[in-house]
Amino acid sequence: MSVDTSVLELKMFVNGEWKTAKNGDENIVINPATQEVIARAPRATKEETEEAIAAARAAFESGIWSGLTTHERAQYLNKIADKIDEKFEELVNLEVMDNGKLKAEAEFDVADATTCFRYYAGLILTPEGETYQVPENVQAMVVREPVGVAGLIVPWNFPLLMSVWKIAPALAAGNTIVYKPAEATPITAMKLVEIIEEVGVPQGVMNLVMGRGAVVGQTIAESHDVDMISFTGSTNVGREIMKAAAGNLKKISLELGGKSPNIIFADADFETAVDYALFGIFFGAGQVCSSGSRILVEESIYDQFVERYIERAKQIKVGPGMNEDSQVGAIASEQQMNAILNYIEIGKQEGATLACGGSRLLTDGLDQGFFIEPTAFTNVTSDMRIVKEEIFGPVVTIQKFKSEDEAIQLANETDFGLAGAVFSNDGAKALRVIKQVRAGITWINAYHPTYVEAPWGGYKQSGIGRSLGTYGLEDFQEIKQININLNVEPVSWFPG
Ligand code: NAP
Ligand code: MG
Repeated sequence: MSVDTSVLELKMFVNGEWKTAKNGDENIVINPATQEVIARAPRATKEETEEAIAAARAAFESGIWSGLTTHERAQYLNKIADKIDEKFEELVNLEVMDNGKLKAEAEFDVADATTCFRYYAGLILTPEGETYQVPENVQAMVVREPVGVAGLIVPWNFPLLMSVWKIAPALAAGNTIVYKPAEATPITAMKLVEIIEEVGVPQGVMNLVMGRGAVVGQTIAESHDVDMISFTGSTNVGREIMKAAAGNLKKISLELGGKSPNIIFADADFETAVDYALFGIFFGAGQVCSSGSRILVEESIYDQFVERYIERAKQIKVGPGMNEDSQVGAIASEQQMNAILNYIEIGKQEGATLACGGSRLLTDGLDQGFFIEPTAFTNVTSDMRIVKEEIFGPVVTIQKFKSEDEAIQLANETDFGLAGAVFSNDGAKALRVIKQVRAGITWINAYHPTYVEAPWGGYKQSGIGRSLGTYGLEDFQEIKQININLNVEPVSWFPG
C-alpha cells in the first residue's frame, strides 16, 4: 500500500487556526472499498486537546457566540446549510470514499445535514420559555441558556450526519464546541468545519481535534473545562465517558448501541414486511445503531417468511458505494469486518443455522475491499451471543413466536432499547404491541425512516437523552428560573 500524491492532508481547527499535530503523529485513512490511502489525519496529544478546550472555554466566556441574538445565530446556521448544499457532490463523494457506504446512502446523509441546520435555525426563532403567576406577587419565568463548552464525540457509521445532529443544536443554543470525529472517518469533519469557518462563525467557537478516542476523547470527557458531552458510539465507550464525566458532573447525552426487534405478525402485508425486514438490517451494511437485527416472526407464516426472505437476501448486490448498481456497500474498516466475521463464526459454533451469506466477498473487484454477504441465521435461541450482542454488520437472526405476549417478551429480552418495529394490518394490535416494546425509536409497518422533528435515542443501555427535535436542542441547554418580586419591600423574616 503506497501513499500517493492525491492523499488529502487533514488538519485540526483550534482557535480559528488550521493545525497539524506538533509531534507529527498521523492516522492513515483508507477507502474501505479499495484499501487505497485517501487521507492522512493528525493525532492530537492530550496537551493539544486541552488547547482546543481552552479556546472553546475562552470563546464561551467572552460571550462572542452566546451573546448573539437568536436571529444572528440562525443566519449563520442557514448559511452553513447553503454551503453544504453548494458542496453536496463533493461531500457525498468524500463520505462514500471514507466510509464505504453507497452513494445513495451518502446523498441522504448530506441532504439530512442541511435539513438539520435549517430546522434548528428555525426552531430557535420560535417562542420559548414559560412564565408563571406564582404566590406572593412574584412573576416567575423560565429561560433557556447554553450549557457552555460542549464536547462532541462521533462514530464512523454516519460521519457527517451524526456530527451535524450535534453541531447544529449545539451552535443554535449558543454553546462553543470541541469536536472529535472517529479516526476511521475524519474527512467530512474537516470539510464541515471549513464551511463553518467560511460563513464566519467567530474564532474559538468551533474547534476540531483529531486523534485516538482513548487520548482525545478521554481528555474531552475528563476535562473540567468542558460542561457537557454529547457522545454517539458503543455502549462500552459510553460507560467510560460516563465515568470520566463524573469528575465535574458534566451533563451527558449518550446515543449508544442496539439490538432492535422487528416483529412480524401473520396478518401483516407479507411483501411489505419482507421488504422492510431486509431494509431494516442490510441498509448501511447493518452498521446502523437502529438496525432491525432481530426479526421475530409469527409461527404460522415463519417458514414462508424465511423462504422468501432468504430468496430476496441472496439477490442483494454487494459492491463499491460508487457503483450505481451496488445495493450494499463496504464495511467501514478492516477491524469492523473482522469483528462481524467473528460473530458469524460464533453463531455457527452456537449451533444456529446459517441460512444465507456468512462470508467475506473476495470476488474480482471486491477482493481489495471489506465486503460481507448479507447474512441470516435461523434456529436461534435467546441465550445465543448472536441474538444478545450488537454485531453492527449485515447479520440478522430470525426467531419464531406463537403469541402476542411471546413476541413482546422476546422483543424486550435485551439490555438495549434503541429501536423496534411491528408489522400488522390490525391497527389496534400493532399499537398495543409497539407501546410495550421498551425502545425509544419505533415504527408500525415501516423500518428506519426518521425525521429531524422527532426525538432520537434509546431506553436502557442504548443511551441517555435524545437527539433531534426540540429535545435535541434541550440537550444543549440549561434551564433557569428567574423570579421577579413585584412588591419591592423587605421580607421581614427577622424582626428588627
Ligand atoms: P466507539 O468505538 O464507541 O467510538 C465512538 C467514538 O468514541 C469514536 O470517535 C472513538 O474514537 C471515540 N472513543 C473511543 N474510545 C473512547 C474513550 N475511551 N473516550 C472517549 N471517546 C472514545 O463506537 P464506533 O465503533 O465508532 O461506532 C459504533 C457504535 O456506535 C455502535 O455501537 C452503534 O450502535 C453506535 N451508534 C449509535 C448511534 C445512536 O444514535 N444511538 C448512532 C450511530 C452509532 P476513535 O474510534 O477515533 O478511536
Ligand atoms: Mg475510512
